[in-house]
Amino acid sequence: MKYCSHCRADIVVTIPPGDNRERYTCPACDFIFYDNPRIVAGCIPIYGDQILLCKRSIEPRSGYWTLPAGFMENGETTQQGAWRETYEESMAKVEVGQLFSVCNVPRINQVHMFYLAQMTNATFGATSESSDVALFSSQDIPWDEIAFATVKQTLERFLADRDQNQFQLHHLEF
Ligand SMILES: [Zn+2]
Repeated sequence: MKYCSHCRADIVVTIPPGDNRERYTCPACDFIFYDNPRIVAGCIPIYGDQILLCKRSIEPRSGYWTLPAGFMENGETTQQGAWRETYEESMAKVEVGQLFSVCNVPRINQVHMFYLAQMTNATFGATSESSDVALFSSQDIPWDEIAFATVKQTLERFLADRDQNQFQLHHLEF
């Protein structure tokens, strides 16, 4: 960030009065540009004993499989974001259920949240963000081609919980 988006003055990095860390600040209009973690919301879409995965057609990790998920938009809840991202990436209209995993990734300033989600029918398909969308049984999950560590560990925890017939909320760190 170089120029203030409010008054076009040059931005400086400084510790504002009363604060304890450096912020992008406009010396002309005193606006402070806070840079905080972003939330990625997604689903574990379940159809019978299968899980819906999307093959990414966009970077990062194009060509790898993921659970449908993406950055929240302003004005929506985490459940709404998870539903929307699932629809945008897979065309599946799910019933969003309980929160399953909260994945903290402080290295890249992100929090990934995955909800259990039921598919009431097998309607889904490729989209502009996914070159392929498919249902996988647990023994067919392409573990070596999973796009992100948060997705891989969420899938592992999901299968373990399903074996125990009890789904818990998982707080994970990466
Ligand atoms: Zn300004």
